[in-house]
Amino acid sequence: AARPGLMGRLFGREPGREAAPPEPRRELDDAMLEDLEDMLIAADLGTDTALRVTANIAEGRMGRRISAPELKQALADEIERIMSAVARPLPLYPKKPQVVLVVGVNGSGKTTTIGKLASQFRAAGKSVVIAAGDTFRAAAVEQLQVWGQRAGVPVMVAPQGSDPASLAWDAMARAEAEGADLLMIDTAGRLQNRADLMEELAKIVRVIRKKDPSAPHNTLLVLDATTGQNALSQVETFRKLADVSGLVMTKLDGTARGGVLVALADRFGLPIHAIGVGEQIDDLDAFDAREFAQALVG
Ligand code: GDP
Repeated sequence: AARPGLMGRLFGREPGREAAPPEPRRELDDAMLEDLEDMLIAADLGTDTALRVTANIAEGRMGRRISAPELKQALADEIERIMSAVARPLPLYPKKPQVVLVVGVNGSGKTTTIGKLASQFRAAGKSVVIAAGDTFRAAAVEQLQVWGQRAGVPVMVAPQGSDPASLAWDAMARAEAEGADLLMIDTAGRLQNRADLMEELAKIVRVIRKKDPSAPHNTLLVLDATTGQNALSQVETFRKLADVSGLVMTKLDGTARGGVLVALADRFGLPIHAIGVGEQIDDLDAFDAREFAQALVG
């Protein structure tokens, strides 16, 4: 879908002119940079990152005449440069099972993402076991079972309200016994009681480390693009609760352009492993820095 680009405002009509010529050049000055900064902030990059990006664009261009397409290209290049550093597929380790712990607030898309990932791993010939570690939310467990069926992957569940760590232990034992390539563990996402959640996640990690001291090999934080700047505080929070190793951003198929990803990359440097682009099983894409930058700049 055509989205409004960021550049329109900067290269509008000049005073005294009927219409702007096709590619007017304007001198890159402070006012223009301030406008650029404002647009980047409005696009969810946050103040710090917007300032940094603007400063980098200004470097070597200040006082020179620049056209809208040139500025747009400079911006796209700068964003691509930032995002290239974090665009990385989920790393695969030779360990069997490779344990992927999935964390994030409820509603961010954990369950859906686990289903999509499981399906991709299956398509790549990997055997997968899923553990429904959010044992308190019956709906989450059911939803995960549906995804497991779609992906053709067994989902281990435990009685409602039972200890997720003991489920993780059982799932680890099963994955080992079956020689599974991957074990994906869903977790609770209620932030109302952080101390509780921290202890719950820590216990899961303790338990699986008894079986494999190198586990979990990935701790994926799932973020919802529609929450905008909130994603930043979610990363901060979850990094205190767990050893987050990488990110997945969901719901980039909607109106959210995911500008906050630039802020996330700039601030935390965590790898972005994949993006969710819909509710269907195939709607999980690798994160492509160039494509993302082009789409964001418009
Ligand atoms: P969880 O509570 O974190 O496990 O979140 P769910 O996986 O249940 O997802 C919450 C809602 O977001 C569901 O309605 C999903 O269909 C929807 N969802 C998840 N990922 C995406 C995505 O990439 N795009 C869209 N449009 N919806 C998504």
